[in-house]
Amino acid sequence: MPARRLSPMERSLPVAERPRRPEWMKVRAPSADSRYYDVRKLIHGAGLNTICEEARCPNIAECWGRGTATFQILGDTCTRACRYCYVHSGKPDGPPDPLEPLRLAQTAAQMSLEHVVVTSVDRDDLPDRGAGHYAATIRALRAKVPTASIEVLTPDFLGYEEEALAIVLAERPDVFNHNIETVRRLHPNMRGAKASYDRALWLLERAKEVAAYAMPAYPLLTKSGIIVGLGETNDEVVETMRDLRGHGVDVVTIGQYLQPSSKHAQIDRWVHPDEFRWFTEQGEALGFGSVFAGPLVRSSYRADEQKHAATSS
Ligand code: SF4
Repeated sequence: MPARRLSPMERSLPVAERPRRPEWMKVRAPSADSRYYDVRKLIHGAGLNTICEEARCPNIAECWGRGTATFQILGDTCTRACRYCYVHSGKPDGPPDPLEPLRLAQTAAQMSLEHVVVTSVDRDDLPDRGAGHYAATIRALRAKVPTASIEVLTPDFLGYEEEALAIVLAERPDVFNHNIETVRRLHPNMRGAKASYDRALWLLERAKEVAAYAMPAYPLLTKSGIIVGLGETNDEVVETMRDLRGHGVDVVTIGQYLQPSSKHAQIDRWVHPDEFRWFTEQGEALGFGSVFAGPLVRSSYRADEQKHAATSS
């Protein structure tokens, strides 16, 4: 099935006047009988940020409705400005909040989370790029929700990669996730000069090596995500999956880009669900333990199920 690609004329229109989202991109509103409002109250009450809200994720009704969320640590201001990302970009307001790890862990316990996903803004302004705060967060979670598995979705720790990996992985998260985001050809344009396709691959491979050499070694799962609809071809998506698999990555997610505002990169195409099914087949043939590909899939979408699929395959 060919992709529904926007014409140049359609792309030049203001966002509000462009062709409507296809049926498969429609999402439901929060329902009163779900856990959505309880989760929101807990998170807001604890003064925590989530990528669910900061990135305007379309799955928020579903994920919060089933009692899950993805915490965003290290503040709400990112030192990068990727062209597809809605998270506020600028100069962060001071050092990390030292009590954030405790509040996060208490909230995760109140939510009875069995799999906790923690991500962050990029903090290139911090000497350790935020690695110590990740480590403190994992320690707090281990104390408050000892039976939960922990997934960290980290930045690239620019210039402090090796040290940051040692700091974070010393706390033994179960899943180390770093999103490559887009294909090699589009990476510089979408992610800017500070980010690097090859550094992302290196970080994922090195994480696995560090875990393997730990005393004692532990079975770290590595994971990465790709956004489609930014101008890539399907073959380039498969090439990126091949690169990830070649660097030992266990879990991959692929989802449709949604333009968060007129200032962000334009949507190039609506990828059809049949194409996502094809990505899944290609990824499985490459040997990933889990491939989650679909229009509304995001890196942390049903992350507990992604982990379960990878560990039981
Ligand atoms: S997919 Fe991830 S970011 Fe989006 S609402 Fe679900 S947990 Fe939050």
